[in-house]
Amino acid sequence: MSLPAATGFLAAVREGDESLPLAALATAGLRDDTREEFEGRTVFSGLVHSGAPDGARARGRGTSLVLAGELYNREELRSLLPSGDPVGDAELVLALFERYDLHAFRLLNGRFAILLHAGPRVLLATDHAGSVPLYVSVLPGRVTAATEAKALRGVAAGRALRAGRAVRRLPGVHQVPAGTVLETSLGSGTCTAHRTWAPPLQRRILPEADAVDAVRESLRRAVRARSGQAAPLVVLSGGIDSSSVAALAALGTDGPIDTVSMGTDVADEFPQSRLVAEHLGTAHREITVTTADLLRRLPHAVWAAESLDPDIIEYLLPLTALYLRLEGPGRRILTGYGADIPLGGMHREDRLPALDSALAHDMATYDGLNEMTPVLSGISGHWSTHPYWDREVLDLLVTLESGLKRRYGQDKWVLRAAMGDLLPSQTVLRPKLGVHEGSGATSSFSRLLTGAGIEPSRVHQAKRLVVQELFDAVVVAGRHPDEVETAQAVQSVADRLGHRVGTGS
Ligand code: ATP
Ligand code: MG
Repeated sequence: MSLPAATGFLAAVREGDESLPLAALATAGLRDDTREEFEGRTVFSGLVHSGAPDGARARGRGTSLVLAGELYNREELRSLLPSGDPVGDAELVLALFERYDLHAFRLLNGRFAILLHAGPRVLLATDHAGSVPLYVSVLPGRVTAATEAKALRGVAAGRALRAGRAVRRLPGVHQVPAGTVLETSLGSGTCTAHRTWAPPLQRRILPEADAVDAVRESLRRAVRARSGQAAPLVVLSGGIDSSSVAALAALGTDGPIDTVSMGTDVADEFPQSRLVAEHLGTAHREITVTTADLLRRLPHAVWAAESLDPDIIEYLLPLTALYLRLEGPGRRILTGYGADIPLGGMHREDRLPALDSALAHDMATYDGLNEMTPVLSGISGHWSTHPYWDREVLDLLVTLESGLKRRYGQDKWVLRAAMGDLLPSQTVLRPKLGVHEGSGATSSFSRLLTGAGIEPSRVHQAKRLVVQELFDAVVVAGRHPDEVETAQAVQSVADRLGHRVGTGS
């Protein structure tokens, strides 16, 4: 099976057997809704799956578990259990829970969201990076959770939770923080958050050669764990991050892997990605999206990511447009996303204190932005996964002392050195170009706003407001993004800002 058993869920635990929610998710796939009774409690789970929903559910004595996503350290985890191994990831986590209780979640390296019900306890768990967003609404006797906030819009307003992050205009809906188990007591609705991972603050000193070997080996393992049975598809820009993933995927696969690069009528990275594709002998495609089509996909990017951050939406927009152009059946997609955060790749100067400050800041603030969300590709039925945010890779990259990241005048030096023999030297030496720059997404969005009469100095503020309007339409009001027009949101923001300028407030 090339996709995880489930890629999203809506699940609820109720005292008694009240009627249960049946909301839709943006994640595309088959839907399987199941209702089970446990000693006076009803457990409901609606899964988006790819043909074998049972792999995403597990049931024990008075316990049950539902899991969207997948684990990447299965063999390690299995070694902790007696033989007669659990088969699916859901069964594996439930078996570990029976042995370690909630500390089981500290053992997992994966990309997942989980609801585990054990008697009157309901546990909601995210992976270390919160890479599969998880939302919850809690009332005494009722816990409802989903991998998309919009699926909880019809649920009665839950109580305010200090342990979660409130979602704009969805009263009582909270996002479970990254690397957290939120433990709720079904009867009273009280909640406690237990951290299962935190970004490391310490830095490791390693000789150059050891650091380079460690990066190569950990990334190789992360790519292998994510590659599945069939040849994976790598979304390739020709930058060092995705080119490294493609090189390692090609190394670990018999026969050619698939790669795809997107561009627009104003900008592309086609020559750079073609160079890598030819070097690796991949089956490569180029997909061109017009700028008008790219901007029309803004509501889809917000619908999928449920993020209010305009910069994040701008990074995610080209990928959303690309995924929507990939036909079925659902593919397993590997990206080079997120490498710049632990490596300080966005940082373009030589001073190490500034580099480490930027890195520490980014690692302390990524949570809740949803930039790693699988829903982005999920809306077109695909499953994406990001090797640089593998728990082991991330731990290593974050902790390496910053002199290994900025070295000999290069950014991301340790990664470039690790990949030196697998890629063309031009690729290894290529300076960073962000996905929002390489596709022209940032400049096109800016031009759309200035074209609507917004002053250049207010463009960033306007982008924030446009994203907010779109969020209100496709998440809060639950409208389908095909029915929401970017142009209308832009006009409405232009009117609001124009009015404010006009009245001098
Ligand atoms: P670099 O950071 O050195 O530019 P990169 O291009 O691989 O490396 P980003 O620019 O941060 O990384 O982009 C994030 C990820 O998004 C990429 O690793 C790649 O998987 C995907 N991506 C970016 N641009 C494109 C593109 N034009 N076509 C296909 N995928 C892309
Ligand atoms: Mg790039």
